Amino acid sequence: MSKMGDIFVIVEHRKGEIRSITFEMLYKAGEICKALNHKLTAVLLAGKGQPFASDISKWADTVLVFEDDRFMDFDSDTYKEVINRLILQQSPFITLIGHTSWGMDLAPALSVRAGYPVATDCVDIIVEGGRPKAIRQTYGGKAFSRVSFRESPGYLITVRPGAFIPPDGAADRQANVVMMDIPSDLGPAKRDFVEFVDTAAGEVDISQAEFLVSIGRGVGEKENIDAIKDLADKMGGTLSCSRPIVDMNWLPKYHQVGTSGKSVRPKIYLALGISGAFQHVAGISGAQTVIAVNKDKKAPIFRVADYGVVDDLFSIADALKEKIKG
Ligand SMILES: Cc1cc2nc3c(=O)[nH]c(=O)nc-3n(C[C@H](O)[C@H](O)[C@H](O)COP(=O)(O)OP(=O)(O)OC[C@H]3O[C@@H](n4cnc5c(N)ncnc54)[C@H](O)[C@@H]3O)c2cc1C
Repeated sequence: MSKMGDIFVIVEHRKGEIRSITFEMLYKAGEICKALNHKLTAVLLAGKGQPFASDISKWADTVLVFEDDRFMDFDSDTYKEVINRLILQQSPFITLIGHTSWGMDLAPALSVRAGYPVATDCVDIIVEGGRPKAIRQTYGGKAFSRVSFRESPGYLITVRPGAFIPPDGAADRQANVVMMDIPSDLGPAKRDFVEFVDTAAGEVDISQAEFLVSIGRGVGEKENIDAIKDLADKMGGTLSCSRPIVDMNWLPKYHQVGTSGKSVRPKIYLALGISGAFQHVAGISGAQTVIAVNKDKKAPIFRVADYGVVDDLFSIADALKEKIKG
């Protein structure tokens, strides 16, 4: 059983899989625990027979499992009731929740219910004088703000996906898995989960892609996008873009990388004709390898690129297509 002062991570899962935000939070929580001698507890609400506990057992000291078919799919009301009782009972120091559609629903309601303060959409967490401070981006990523909390028995923080990318070997704990009693007065869910509707057919989830071919304003014209899409398809990549491409309605919003788009963490990020504005590169901090092609050798994208090519993006695209053919 966890002790006072643990760091709690609320496990997020969807369609039978733990979502990567969970591992990102567990990694960050683990770092804080190591530095400050806290214990790390993962809190899992899952349906009967959903075998998630083993997936996270190397990431936490304790996994508290609430198993009930009412928890098979996310429902903020029931989750809030269970987690509220748990945190009031166990007083975790910090509770991390993903800043996802799930967490954005749960965290504010939980904050009101438990009377714990919450900071949302945080990209870093520091602990000073026994209290956490949450780092958030403001003005569309142009500035960072440090959010202090009023004194409280515990603090809630929602974490931006992609902010903490666990390196290999980050899972170095061995959890004690504890089956928890479901509160006997927990009522039926007030909402019925009907179905999970994926983004419409033909749409893509760039945040999960391993190889992104990303275009910026350097692509010049809407008509040129097809050639790059073709290249991406041939290389097994997914097309993404910078904001102007979306603003000009050349691609739908779900392709956009950056602070007002999505954070991505592909193995390879190929940036074609993207200058590397802060708002854009903030979204690719989780990329393993960044390759940039830009005509301007002073383009800021080269500051974050692992490999850079100063050239016209279309000649590089053509050369790549030739290479693939050959
Ligand atoms: C509140 C706010 C939020 C924002 N959020 C985002 C966001 O989420 N994502 C985002 O991307 N931006 C965002 N922006 C916009 C951001 O500041 C930049 O304006 C944007 O990222 C620039 O996009 P770009 O690199 O495609 O275009 P540009 O900055 O115009 O760069 C185009 C680049 O292409 C190069 N180029 C031109 N032709 C060629 C060619 N033929 N071959 C090779 N290179 C070529 C040029 O040298 C140049 O470097 C945001 C801005 C604000 C204020």
